[in-house]
Amino acid sequence: MTIPDSPRPSDFIRDIITEDLKTGKNDGRVHTRFPPEPNGYLHIGHAKSICLNFGIARDFNGLCNLRFDDTNPTKEEVEYVESIKEDVRWLGFDWEDRMYYASDYFEQMYQYAVELIKSSRAYVCDLSADEIRERRGTLTAPGKNSPYRDRSVAESLDLFERMRSGEFPDGSRTLRAKIDMTSGNINMRDPVMYRMLHAEHHRTGDRWCIYPMYDFAHCISDSIEGITHSVCTLEFEDHRPLYDWFLDELKVECHPRQIEFARLNLSYTVLSKRKLLQLVESGFVNGWDDSRMPAISGLRRRGYTPESIRNFCERIGVAKRDSVVDMALLEYCVREDLNRSAPRVMAVLRPLKVIIVNYPEDKTEELDAVNNPEDPGAGMRKVPFSRVLYIERDDFHEDPPKQFFRLAPGREVRLRYAYYITCVNVIKDQKTGEVTELHCTYDPATKGGDAPDKRKVKATLHWVSASHSITSEVRLYDKLLLKEDADDVEEGKDFRSNINPNSLETLTSCRLEPCLADAKPGDRYQFERMGYFCVDPDSSAGKKVFNRTVTLKDTWVKVQKRGKD
Ligand code: ATP
Ligand code: MG
Repeated sequence: MTIPDSPRPSDFIRDIITEDLKTGKNDGRVHTRFPPEPNGYLHIGHAKSICLNFGIARDFNGLCNLRFDDTNPTKEEVEYVESIKEDVRWLGFDWEDRMYYASDYFEQMYQYAVELIKSSRAYVCDLSADEIRERRGTLTAPGKNSPYRDRSVAESLDLFERMRSGEFPDGSRTLRAKIDMTSGNINMRDPVMYRMLHAEHHRTGDRWCIYPMYDFAHCISDSIEGITHSVCTLEFEDHRPLYDWFLDELKVECHPRQIEFARLNLSYTVLSKRKLLQLVESGFVNGWDDSRMPAISGLRRRGYTPESIRNFCERIGVAKRDSVVDMALLEYCVREDLNRSAPRVMAVLRPLKVIIVNYPEDKTEELDAVNNPEDPGAGMRKVPFSRVLYIERDDFHEDPPKQFFRLAPGREVRLRYAYYITCVNVIKDQKTGEVTELHCTYDPATKGGDAPDKRKVKATLHWVSASHSITSEVRLYDKLLLKEDADDVEEGKDFRSNINPNSLETLTSCRLEPCLADAKPGDRYQFERMGYFCVDPDSSAGKKVFNRTVTLKDTWVKVQKRGKD
């Protein structure tokens, strides 16, 4: 994988805006918006759109609105609105006093619809949804006119008003734009603008029994807010003529320019609220903020920083063609950020007891350790050393293969910041043969980890003092999906058959350096040699829980090598 340069100075959307500014469009104003539908939590794909829209406003001295596109009352909830606000803020963006709801414009939209009926550009249609679909035609065959298409303006006006007052059952009538049933663009074949729907809306309550369709509501919302550039994903390219048609027919003052870009796809995961909701509802994950979810709240809980996500979004850039971004790039971005900022500590995830047989029983030493070699300002800390320690079970091999340089019977290694130790005896469980304890000797002359005679050891291990360490739970994560492409599944199956059953491994008897006793949810650390970790909100005073955000690169290489031994 090659890592693209960061940050990317420009993209085709910024080029278009630069050009518009040069030619004096919109009186030099730049105004964008991020328009989520509050029907789920935001994911990393939305982060791309947020960084783009708010980033453009920042770069061009413009403004960016947050607008909830809440035109579908049945799927939307207040919980989602709150989470979206939290996520946008956490990513570092500020809509100031410009938070809007499409539902704020329902009355205005209604008036616009009436205007279109009056100018014979819209009509009430009595066909059912199925009948409309049957007459819509195909990509190659034109559609058929509705028998209600030529009903009088007066009749449509009357029916539309009665639709509004809820006189008709759901699905019985729609308001349709009168455009062209033979258009090569199916979106232009008399699209539905309003449908009957007796449903409570999270903001407007039971005030409305008709709700506008996305294509009608979206362009009007943009226009009302004075948006200059309406940036959206590629699937709306074919809707642009309709967007323009509505605004042209209504002769509105502000006619935003719609520009489409390719949505983000990430390997080994899904970026669709519908699919993510399935994972939540099926109980495969523990909510939207499960650390395996590509939701912003999941990434946050996992330990991702806002900087790393913004950086990722800048690196991937903006293009007109669909592509799949390697998950490894997202991981690279967070590793790069945490490498600079995360304090180093020692934590033993799978403990193996080590007794230093020539070290006094009642002695404890406080050894000096560096908090962050990348950040001299981070200072030093003391790490307690005593006779009984834990090391990583994987760091010992009774019968070491050729490439294994860590601890083995008779072999000497360095304990980080401490001493050289040599394994002199291996204690095993009589019944299972499992190694339960190692007896080692230490060389007092190597304090701090340096041998005065310059003799070499081939490995440096992390460790903790048994009696001083705290016990904690650590959650290790693997990819959410087994295959890069979520839809690479057998016929008749969906992405769920691709779920990695081993995406979570929970270790419950990890031993951590005592300084971690004060760690608070959200705090991030590098556990030396094991990766970057973040304190989970599930932590209690008695027991900390850590999530592994990402492995260290070289650990990954080592693990892969080890697999080959
Ligand atoms: P989903 O398919 O996950 O439901 P959506 O597009 O329906 O996504 P919206 O709430 O409508 O979700 O999205 C708000 C904004 O975020 C839209 O402008 C949309 O284009 C953008 N967006 C959604 N998914 C992505 C993505 N994967 N990459 C880039 N932008 C995205
Ligand atoms: Mg949508």
